[in-house]
Amino acid sequence: MPLNILIVGAGVCGPALATLLQHADPRHTITVVERASSLRKAGQQLDVKAQGLPILEKMGLRGTIRPLLVAETGMQFVDAKGKSLAEFGVTGGGKRNYSLSTDREIMRSDLVNMLGERGSLKYEFGKSIIELSQDDGGVDVKLSSGETGRYDLVVAADGQGSRTRRLAWGVEASAAAFHSLGIHTAYFSIPRAEGEGGMAKWFNASESRAVLIRNGDRPMTQVYLFARNNAELFRQAYKEPLAKQKDAFRKAYSGAGWEVDRFLGAMDDCDDFYAHEAGQIKIDPLYKSRVVLVGDAGYCPAPFTGMGTTLSLIGSYVLAGELAKHKNDIGPALQAYSEVVRSPVDEYQRLPPATINAMFPSSKFGVWLLQNAAWALAGLKVDQLVHRFLPAENVNGRWPIPEYAELNLPVP
Ligand SMILES: Cc1cc2nc3c(=O)[nH]c(=O)nc-3n(C[C@H](O)[C@H](O)[C@H](O)COP(=O)(O)OP(=O)(O)OC[C@H]3O[C@@H](n4cnc5c(N)ncnc54)[C@H](O)[C@@H]3O)c2cc1C
Repeated sequence: MPLNILIVGAGVCGPALATLLQHADPRHTITVVERASSLRKAGQQLDVKAQGLPILEKMGLRGTIRPLLVAETGMQFVDAKGKSLAEFGVTGGGKRNYSLSTDREIMRSDLVNMLGERGSLKYEFGKSIIELSQDDGGVDVKLSSGETGRYDLVVAADGQGSRTRRLAWGVEASAAAFHSLGIHTAYFSIPRAEGEGGMAKWFNASESRAVLIRNGDRPMTQVYLFARNNAELFRQAYKEPLAKQKDAFRKAYSGAGWEVDRFLGAMDDCDDFYAHEAGQIKIDPLYKSRVVLVGDAGYCPAPFTGMGTTLSLIGSYVLAGELAKHKNDIGPALQAYSEVVRSPVDEYQRLPPATINAMFPSSKFGVWLLQNAAWALAGLKVDQLVHRFLPAENVNGRWPIPEYAELNLPVP
């Protein structure tokens, strides 16, 4: 039997899942509700490494995605005067680790556009889910618009702070699933200055602050602020309008050095500011009767892993695949989905605390040590040695993408 499915969230995995489900069984009735008034295309570069790109290619997007990949030439560590201290190249071939810059990066706007503007899917913008209850036969949902509906399946694709997860699992269990890394992150775009482009630049300031800028071949400069301080200031600001969130980052970055004042000055005029507390979502199993979590809502690995988008594509593909394989029998399909994605989720959520501590030194001496370590590693070409000598499965990710003939995907 075809299903009446509600997908909450039209970020990356919502539209990807909707497309795959529609392809597998065109008789499904699929509704995607999105809180924003249109596809939310804000955001900077996203990695589609390891299994990410092959899944997009399985969806028939090979020709579309390749020209959209960002041409970045590597990453420099810079000091407060902007002098390059260490340079690392690009990790090629979809390998998942050992460099912050890869040849499998795409602007979030391009990816959301590509996935969200395909097919004949029904999107309901400017609406979010406010009530949810379920029984053996279905899920009753009320939307912020006042509309109500009953669905066979509700998919939470509404990101790290998923309200659907909160409604289905309860406030406490949902909050307990969030494991903060204690890093507050802002992303925004500013006009590109002369000489910017090619290599991304990473700058550490004292008091556990870091700044990344990158352009690749793009006309705007992407700014990323990472602060591992002022937790209460930020948590309060996230409840306030964007202007207050910008104020919090301005305050936390006062006196950081390098060109940070220029970035903060331009932040007021940007139209794509996005800030959040970076963390991981850990919950198992990934479903509660007929409500299922996909992407960041169920297993956000945190931006520092660079695997969030890949995991959300894996999740969309496996969920659609298991539903098709189980002939839309929801119970066994959701159980299989939850079990199959566990291995890549666990692998890509592995983030040793020492890595985070090392990336955000608090004292000036700690910054000096980190910069010298980067200089030594770059000088010894350690990143290249790791690529050359580690077996491919250790760097590509060990998990083989399952084949689902039932998805009726185009043969490449
Ligand atoms: C605006 C934005 C900018 C981002 N920028 C970056 C970035 O620069 N770098 C990076 O690494 N990651 C970024 N991310 C996160 C990144 O997109 C995800 O980690 C990853 O791609 C997995 O995608 P997802 O579809 O699971 O979640 P997301 O991409 O977060 O998508 C979730 C979607 O659900 C919608 N939504 C949320 N709550 C509700 C609700 N109650 N009802 C209906 N819809 C709802 C959101 O508006 C969003 O469109 C950004 C996310 C967003 C939303």
